Amino acid sequence: MNTAIKFWFLTFTVSLLMVSSSSTTHFPNVVIAGGGFFGCSIALMLQRRGLRPMVVESENELLTRASQVNQARVHGGYHYPRSLITAYRSRYNYERFRRVYREAIVDQFTKVYGVSRLFSKVTASQFEVFMQRIGAPLKAAPDKIAAMFDTNLTESVWIAQECAFDCALLRERCRRDLEESGIPIRYGTRVVSAQRDIRGTVVAGLSDGSEWPVELVINATYSGLNLLTQGSHLPVIPLKHELAEMALIRLPEELDGLSVTMMCGPFFSFMPYPSRGLTTLSHVRYTPHLQWFEKPETVLRDPYERFGQLVKNTHYQYMVTDAARYIPALSKAEYVDSIWEVKTLLPQTEVDDGRPILFRRDPALPEVIHVMGGKIDNIFDVEDELDAVLSSSPVKIAL
Ligand SMILES: Cc1cc2nc3c(=O)[nH]c(=O)nc-3n(C[C@H](O)[C@H](O)[C@H](O)COP(=O)(O)OP(=O)(O)OC[C@H]3O[C@@H](n4cnc5c(N)ncnc54)[C@H](O)[C@@H]3O)c2cc1C
Repeated sequence: MNTAIKFWFLTFTVSLLMVSSSSTTHFPNVVIAGGGFFGCSIALMLQRRGLRPMVVESENELLTRASQVNQARVHGGYHYPRSLITAYRSRYNYERFRRVYREAIVDQFTKVYGVSRLFSKVTASQFEVFMQRIGAPLKAAPDKIAAMFDTNLTESVWIAQECAFDCALLRERCRRDLEESGIPIRYGTRVVSAQRDIRGTVVAGLSDGSEWPVELVINATYSGLNLLTQGSHLPVIPLKHELAEMALIRLPEELDGLSVTMMCGPFFSFMPYPSRGLTTLSHVRYTPHLQWFEKPETVLRDPYERFGQLVKNTHYQYMVTDAARYIPALSKAEYVDSIWEVKTLLPQTEVDDGRPILFRRDPALPEVIHVMGGKIDNIFDVEDELDAVLSSSPVKIAL
């Protein structure tokens, strides 16, 4: 090919890519791997700061993995009485999350927290003091609610201020925001690598064979974080994965409009799951079916592939039998279905059950940033970290 034809061909290909990816014609300078809540939200943050992100999602829809299959709790701090920093940050972000994503907020239910007399890692008075410390409102549950609990097993119950989110409405919100901002999304495509080429440019390689010279690659792939590190010959991020099951149930009439979380140890929780008009029942002991770790010395396997291959036999009977010891009316719940997902955690959180964010510039390739939120409201903590990166060297982005 002579030079003129080569040039025309290149221009044509680039234009095609730009047009097919978006209604607006901007050539991305950031590739975001993962179109979950974090990937989408980070894309919007970067766009607002003058960068040109492109979201690459391996599924054919946004927010289909952990951002859809979860307990739908907007954490208000009550869940973390063993991690002051997580509890405090949750409380801090709670009202902001409610405000920013108000169309996806569901709060037409009464949130009850209880402390078990047996095997609990906190006592009722410790729980109260802790919640006071982080500014999380608690009031004694009225007799009608308290009477539903077995007092031999339950030390105390309170009404808390905590709401749920509807993942379908959150998806709509993300999709609309991305569209209005003209941010291109490539569906059904994986980011397989991020590497520096011989000119020193970082190039993101996609599963469709295209290559994108960029200034930043954001790895927001949750369970898939190490698929990208592996494909890019970057250091492994230590992670713990669990195969998690949440049962979807219909509550009996006497529990209608209630959501209960029993603290703090091997107990249970039921929360509204608004996108299906049902309730999830989860249990610290029975929701995780098995776990595996990714460490530098382990042979890595694709967690999504593994998830697809694992046998999924429900633990519902174990969950409900144990939970009904505390709330006898639960035995009348109707089992409808189970939802399953790989839950990914930072191994260091096993001690205090905290949920800090992972926000790590890759030590070998600092233009790659690995992000894992841990819980949905942590998105605001990610924003602070992004700002710090955008103003620091060596990755000082030309805005
Ligand atoms: C069982 C369970 C219960 C939970 N309960 C709660 C709760 O009650 N409250 C709360 O706040 N949080 C909860 N969480 C945590 C919360 O769901 C996650 O923190 C959040 O959804 C993570 O969002 P994300 O965008 O990082 O991940 P995801 O939504 O999983 O998004 C990652 C995306 O990356 C895509 N992907 C993967 N690899 C690639 C690749 N190489 N290229 C392109 N795309 C790729 C995936 O398809 C996926 O869509 C729970 C999680 C689980 C699993």
